[in-house]
Amino acid sequence: MARRMLIAGNWKMNGLQAARDEAGRLVEALGGRAPDDADVLICPPATLLADMARDLDGSGLLVGGQDCHAEARGAHTGDVSAEMAADAGASHVIVGHSERRADHGETDEMVREKAAAALRAGLTPVICVGETLADRDAGRAEEIVSAQIRGSTPGSVDAAGLVIAYEPVWAIGTGRTASSADIAAMHAAARAALAAVKGADAGAAVRILYGGSVKPDNAAAILAIDGVDGALVGGASLAAADFHAIIAARPRPG
Ligand code: PEP
Repeated sequence: MARRMLIAGNWKMNGLQAARDEAGRLVEALGGRAPDDADVLICPPATLLADMARDLDGSGLLVGGQDCHAEARGAHTGDVSAEMAADAGASHVIVGHSERRADHGETDEMVREKAAAALRAGLTPVICVGETLADRDAGRAEEIVSAQIRGSTPGSVDAAGLVIAYEPVWAIGTGRTASSADIAAMHAAARAALAAVKGADAGAAVRILYGGSVKPDNAAAILAIDGVDGALVGGASLAAADFHAIIAARPRPG
């Protein structure tokens, strides 16, 4: 099944108001518009979400949140609900990023509830999964990631409304990337786990992104791997020139 590429940038806890200019430079580099054959998403910090949604309105570029609370509203100081992100102009929200799993003790169940909240608010959740180096060294990478997919994916939902990001934890922000063979094997395992949860057709429809030190110089090779439907890019999404080079490295349809 042909799936449309999604190139997503995760700015993490980076970006003051001046960073909005960087997104403007990206739009300029793209010739004023998102490409016809791929989706481009920027997930800035929550403080910039509404401004960037306005800045990028009409460009075809999408903006997303980096996390959301499972509930729509209430006494949860400091949290942002999926409804709030949608209200600010988001179309997507990252849930279960390994930094949130590690820093905030997020479990698969919590991630599943956040993904369900995103869907309730009309957002597409980008559900992150990935093994640690210890898991990989123990030969458990496929087992761990398959279990994360089973545990973090809401059951009663149209699979086309989901995105999975496979991000080996040891490759995030380290400059290390998985080998092409390992990425292909992990994406195949992730898709098989999805098909087991959602049925073969639904499993085939979900976009699975690769994340972990994707840079301009390795993007073409990574994006060409069978089963890779795009990238979730951290550090290299902060500079328009680098993110543009990654977007430009995608394989073109036909
Ligand atoms: C990420 O934050 O999801 C990520 C993959 O970061 P980096 O590209 O910097 O490794």
